[in-house]
Amino acid sequence: MKIDIQKLVRKNILNLKPYSSARDEFEGENGIFLDANENPFGELNRYPDPYQRKIKQKLSAINQISADNIFLGNGSDEVIDLAFRIFCEPRKDKVLTFSPTYGMYDVSANINNVELINLDLNEDFQIDLETLKPYLKDENLKIIFICSPNNPTGNSIKNIEYILENFNGIIFIDEAYIDFSPKESFRNQIKNYENLIVSQTFSKAWGMASVRVGIAYASEEIIKFYNKTKPPYNISQLNQNAVLETLNDENIKLVQENIKLILNEKKLLIESLLQLKLVKKIFPTDANFILIEVENADWIYQKLVDENVIVRNRNSVIKNCLRITVGSPEENLKLIETLQNLN
Ligand SMILES: *Cc1c(COP(=O)(O)O)cnc(C)c1O
Repeated sequence: MKIDIQKLVRKNILNLKPYSSARDEFEGENGIFLDANENPFGELNRYPDPYQRKIKQKLSAINQISADNIFLGNGSDEVIDLAFRIFCEPRKDKVLTFSPTYGMYDVSANINNVELINLDLNEDFQIDLETLKPYLKDENLKIIFICSPNNPTGNSIKNIEYILENFNGIIFIDEAYIDFSPKESFRNQIKNYENLIVSQTFSKAWGMASVRVGIAYASEEIIKFYNKTKPPYNISQLNQNAVLETLNDENIKLVQENIKLILNEKKLLIESLLQLKLVKKIFPTDANFILIEVENADWIYQKLVDENVIVRNRNSVIKNCLRITVGSPEENLKLIETLQNLN
């Protein structure tokens, strides 16, 4: 089924005449640049490439995806926010999420004054398709957000194919943790579904959270609307440089080794947590964190803080649950020792 992306886009964005920067109008690298009111002196005096072409070329080669199917945002948070701005008419359109999940979908919905329908995941933290089905026909439902592996539960979400086959709005799959997962990315499915956005990030497996660069893979049509709507220079030259330096063979190997190390630490951490009486349950995880159920999460959280070990208390979202990021071997040891003393 052919989906008309333009029909999903807000009228004002469809009609928007985007800001045309000096760097849009003249693309060459050599010349005497007197077009952008920049300072001729200094090292960081020039505006950066608004479309981050060098990074996209590298990502394109690494992932065998055309650069025209890639958008880069100031963190995934910008990728999420732009989806609202492009597709959701405030006070009219809606989005849908499955909770518990990442908090930014809700915050972005509120900022953009867009109604958020929140369906609970089932006991196994999976989507209940029967509950979802009636919503798929709602014409004002513009985006379904699916976080997989899901934060804060850690599991991969099943039945995404069903939603891709049966929903004509935008399906936004947040794969922030995909590089830790044995499951395949949906990135390669953008060929088959022009209404699919797959977001990834340099913040987690790539170890560059401070750099603030998120990625969206989507049909050329969607990417065009992203480029049209984004702030002109949304990724600074410093941040582009940091990413470019990471995208070489040697560094990629290092990143992959670190992922292996983190996954091995995760295994060890789970084994140690299983030995502890105060741990009631360890939920299955495909990410670099572990959700555990304990007897009294607030109390354990505070005891850990007292020992300078900070985990995420998710008690308000999932009763008596803590989310623990897998740290370095030393950090994990300190966590386990602290918990053993509380046991
Ligand atoms: C950490 C995380 C991100 C990353 O956000 P950035 O803005 O790219 O740092 C995105 N989605 C989820 C679910 C996350 O947990």
